Amino acid sequence: MTDLTIIGGGIVGIATALEVQRSFPDLTIRVLEREPALAMHQTGRNSGVIHAGIYYAPGSLKARFCREGLAETVRFCQEHGLPYDQCGKLIVATDAVEMERLAILTDRARRNGLDVRPVEAAELRELEPNIVGLGALLSPTTGIVDYTAVTIKMAELFTESGGEIRTGADVARIEEGTNTVTLHLADGEILSSARLIVCAGAQADRLAAMCGVGGDFAIVPFKGEYFRLAPRHDDVVRHLIYPVPDPTMPFLGIHLTRMIGGFVTVGPNAVLSLARDRYGKLSTNRRDIADMARFPGFWRALGANLPAGLTEAANSTFRRRYLRMCQRYCPSLELSDLKSHPPGIRAQAVMRDGTLVHDFLIRETPRTIHICNAPSPAATSAIPIAKHIRDAAAKAFHLKGPVHAF
Ligand SMILES: Cc1cc2nc3c(=O)[nH]c(=O)nc-3n(C[C@H](O)[C@H](O)[C@H](O)COP(=O)(O)OP(=O)(O)OC[C@H]3O[C@@H](n4cnc5c(N)ncnc54)[C@H](O)[C@@H]3O)c2cc1C
Repeated sequence: MTDLTIIGGGIVGIATALEVQRSFPDLTIRVLEREPALAMHQTGRNSGVIHAGIYYAPGSLKARFCREGLAETVRFCQEHGLPYDQCGKLIVATDAVEMERLAILTDRARRNGLDVRPVEAAELRELEPNIVGLGALLSPTTGIVDYTAVTIKMAELFTESGGEIRTGADVARIEEGTNTVTLHLADGEILSSARLIVCAGAQADRLAAMCGVGGDFAIVPFKGEYFRLAPRHDDVVRHLIYPVPDPTMPFLGIHLTRMIGGFVTVGPNAVLSLARDRYGKLSTNRRDIADMARFPGFWRALGANLPAGLTEAANSTFRRRYLRMCQRYCPSLELSDLKSHPPGIRAQAVMRDGTLVHDFLIRETPRTIHICNAPSPAATSAIPIAKHIRDAAAKAFHLKGPVHAF
């Protein structure tokens, strides 16, 4: 029997595996990932931004984890020779309303202890000749990285120290007993483990329900579609360029992102997806749709966000509308510049009353811990999140052993 099993080979599961192993080296730890490789979902399909933590409520866990996560991600990349670039980010206001929102955001960033400064229109033109705006907020420490590469490096460190990772291991059923947790894999194999941590992204609600701690929330998948800009635009920006977020929308808005591969993407939007882990434009999954339709929180969230949802759907359907959103701050872009790029799907937890969960959501049973919601910037914050889970596991599972720094 394994001492601890972790379900989920995304960045949260793998960072947690490594962190628990470093703190409790005597434990046998196994990671189960249903896909043939690690990081195939949210972790490998995102903007690759190392966020600084501007947007989050001062004093919140999300704000603290993000600030610490930036420093830890940079340190991890330096230690292991992984490419990253702290190219900085500009949040650009294009009208008077956005200028007011930018002032509020500046105040929030400062209350979060971040090194940011306002930029006037003339300086914005100097910093970014291809970007137009009335003003901006500069976050010099925001950066970019390849989160798949980070996850793979963490996985290597984990297995080199004796950890086991099994891909192609789809956990279909969990039974929690008094002394053991039994895991039934989809191919019929049965594994047992003394304890379990679940970091299953888009499947989090289903695995939580198997352990009796779900039901009051469900995962609603929101697709984020990107375009890659034509190579002539590889140097169109020096910083990451973000719009001022609309406080009525749950996500950050379409941004211009320099990527580690040397190209620039624009995106992501946020459209309701009819499948949790299929990425084609018209992909559907009957079970995902049925589960969504049965959950009252889905209909309440849909009702509350209908105008925003319809706008996003229209922007997704009509490329020209998508383009117009980018042209507000980058007018030189043309329709022919928008090349295809893989989308991602956000695993968004929604409560029964229709509230979208913006923070981490963690549930526990005597032998299991479930990370039920790990929204953006959970890739940036993966190392502090992993430490938090390690501490929760140490307490809940009465683990004893040396605790080392990550
Ligand atoms: C479009 C988009 C843009 C984003 N941009 C950023 C960004 O720029 N910066 C940032 O910090 N964050 C960003 N995020 C958020 C970030 O990517 C996620 O918060 C983070 O990757 C979550 O990691 P995870 O390990 O929890 O989930 P995942 O990476 O989704 O991993 C969960 C894993 O669990 C596995 N699994 C599920 N069920 C089972 C089962 N039954 N048995 C075995 N395995 C199972 C899945 O196959 C999957 O590999 C973005 C997300 C999206 C979608």
